[in-house]
Amino acid sequence: MSNFDELLATVPTGLWIDGGAREANSGKRFDVINPATGDALTSVADADVSDADAALASAAAAQKSWAATAPRERSTILRRAWELVVERTEDFALLMTLEMGKTVAESRGEVAYGSEFLRWFSEEAVRVGGRTATAPSGNGRILVTKEPVGPCLAITPWNFPLAMGTRKIGPALAAGCTMLVKPAEATPLTMLLLAQVFADAGLPPGVLSVLPTGDAPNVIAALMKDRRLRKVSFTGSTEVGKILIGQSADQVLKTSMELGGNAPFIVFDDADIDAAVDGAMAAKMRNGGEACTAANRLLVHNPIREQFTKALAERIADSTVGPGYQDDVTLGPLISSQQRDSVAALVDEAVTAGARVHTGGSVIDGPGYFYEPTVIDEVPDGSRILGEEIFGPVAVITGFDTEDEAIERANATDYGLAAYFYTRDLDRVLRVSAALESGMVGVNRGVISDPAAPFGGVKQSGLGSEGGSEGIQEYLNTKYIALTP
Ligand code: ADP
Repeated sequence: MSNFDELLATVPTGLWIDGGAREANSGKRFDVINPATGDALTSVADADVSDADAALASAAAAQKSWAATAPRERSTILRRAWELVVERTEDFALLMTLEMGKTVAESRGEVAYGSEFLRWFSEEAVRVGGRTATAPSGNGRILVTKEPVGPCLAITPWNFPLAMGTRKIGPALAAGCTMLVKPAEATPLTMLLLAQVFADAGLPPGVLSVLPTGDAPNVIAALMKDRRLRKVSFTGSTEVGKILIGQSADQVLKTSMELGGNAPFIVFDDADIDAAVDGAMAAKMRNGGEACTAANRLLVHNPIREQFTKALAERIADSTVGPGYQDDVTLGPLISSQQRDSVAALVDEAVTAGARVHTGGSVIDGPGYFYEPTVIDEVPDGSRILGEEIFGPVAVITGFDTEDEAIERANATDYGLAAYFYTRDLDRVLRVSAALESGMVGVNRGVISDPAAPFGGVKQSGLGSEGGSEGIQEYLNTKYIALTP
């Protein structure tokens, strides 16, 4: 345990406000739990409405000078922060594994992916641009400029403790906005360490605050009513996203919403089946299935269904389950007992309704919150597990006979985040990509996230894009200046 304790001793555990860590006004703290054991790792300060007010005051005070800071200087600070995170890869990786549960190998992958948003947006900071045009009437000029929207609030989930923060902080800071981050209760430590890294990189006080709280509904509701706030960016459940969209109406806040998913993963009978099994492993088992882009429904062409199912079940059964910080482990715990129980309830209901279990299907006794890597098929239409996000290591397979049926089933959901399919037919690639109602499509691959690409959903999966050249636009207002002559 000693290297864990040494690492934890380097992580700030106060509220990060105005460039440093401090206790909450109430003096309260809450525990951060290791999901592999159920034991507390440490505790963090618990912000209330008065702390949030102080954080927003510091963000509002810093806004003007941060917006006026040269883009090259903002870029340099983001670049330095990227370098420092990369230098501390092992610390960030172990910390995420401790508070979130994924394997250290996956956490290292998240450090590479999550830090890249800082480098990518350090490069975008100096390329914001605008445009000019001659008015069609010929008697004036149209000048279009971009301005930072102002102080922003980011609310992040626990499944990617670093990347879900950097994907918002990178573009906000690059654009010249200040930002308050409310990390998930389960995983506040990674964001607090990142705040320290930003301070080390030379970020001025007030530009970035981190507010862990055990009372998100009240703290966030108060911030959303505050006239100093100009934008909210949220990643989490559709249910909470709808609450925030409702609250944003009050001040007509700009919103970015990355909400739930129910990704279809379609395998056509002309696919390379070995490659499709590899892709399904990545799309399903990455992050233990706790990802909004996770393949929630595997739709497999009936002629190859048995072959695919058998191969996938063998691969999934081969997982080694245990604490993510143990060397041989390939599947860590779920985030909490509630999450484990919710996965178990979805599987149990499907099995009672007639689904067939190929491997797994049960809770693993504690300590820690483990569930067996599972494959089920012959899941009856209408089962809850086909309509809801599973957020666990459970592959659900259903069959189809025709391309039209596959597309209809894939689109039969209120969500529209990611979709995947495997085929070797180029006509089909273009046809099916166009027909899928989702913001992102993976063709012959099971992982699509890339800091250089726009991540975002349609339908009830969200509003706006994160990453790519699109990502910074979410933090900019467009101003039109009419010039004569
Ligand atoms: P998950 O199911 O992944 O925990 P949630 O949508 O519940 O997803 O949580 C995502 C983030 O939203 C977390 O930081 C959580 O604290 C925050 N949150 C939860 N409820 C509310 C709420 N009523 N208002 C604002 N934020 C909330």
